[in-house]
Amino acid sequence: MPEGPETKRMVDTIKKSLLNQELVSTSFLHDNLKNLDTANISILDVTSKGKAVIIRLSDGNSIITHNQLYGRWTSNRLNTKIRHNRSLRIEFCTNSKAVRLWSATDIIALPTAEESTHPYLKRIGPDVLDKTTTYKLIYDRLVSKRFRNRRFSGLLLNQHFISGLGNYLRSEILFFAKLMYHQKASELDQDQNTKLSQCIKDVSLRSYKQKGKTIFYDDLMLKQLDKSAKKRRFMVFARAGQNCYVCKTKIVKEFQSSRRIYFCTTCQSSHR
Ligand SMILES: [Zn+2]
Repeated sequence: MPEGPETKRMVDTIKKSLLNQELVSTSFLHDNLKNLDTANISILDVTSKGKAVIIRLSDGNSIITHNQLYGRWTSNRLNTKIRHNRSLRIEFCTNSKAVRLWSATDIIALPTAEESTHPYLKRIGPDVLDKTTTYKLIYDRLVSKRFRNRRFSGLLLNQHFISGLGNYLRSEILFFAKLMYHQKASELDQDQNTKLSQCIKDVSLRSYKQKGKTIFYDDLMLKQLDKSAKKRRFMVFARAGQNCYVCKTKIVKEFQSSRRIYFCTTCQSSHR
């Protein structure tokens, strides 16, 4: 499933193709959109919150989609042949581009002023990539009564805590914060919680900027590595049995909160 960074990059692509462009045709092929007008509309803005994409239309409505496992937005040139048989849900065409949503079923239209009443948007926490989601805001939520006694294995997947986090980010954030999945904020000191809050923001932002890579090139330890280090994506995620880049301990894989998690028992061991 795409996590916050992937969703935000998808929004960037949709924006680039559609914002300030005249729409030459629009098709809404999902039942929930059948009352929307397809003529004389334009797109005012495209944004995301957590893993939801929000498209604001000039007629005062917003379309909110959540891709779950199978939904997919694409942007192609008009003459690109489509070579799959997914179900088309939404299509916006300009003079040069076709932006389409395929297969998704979680699609709702609401007046833009009522976006926050959407069942998913209403209950999720602040978006990790949003500018207003600061280290302090993350720290305050982390140590709040509501979240301080939750194990990180579940907390870092919980969209009510901070939205946009997901499975690969969970492993990578804990690695950079030097913490283990079974720990909780209530067991840590202020410095450790501060460090974790910073890692939640920084690792997510880095993944967005580096197109899905969380690896930190500027770190001294990585400067000493060979050139192939540039191709590496994660420090621990999906690296079971391979050597840790920092200490050469073999990376371990387990299942926690029903999802796979990866960690280095040496780098993350001080509190194990
Ligand atoms: Zn290590």
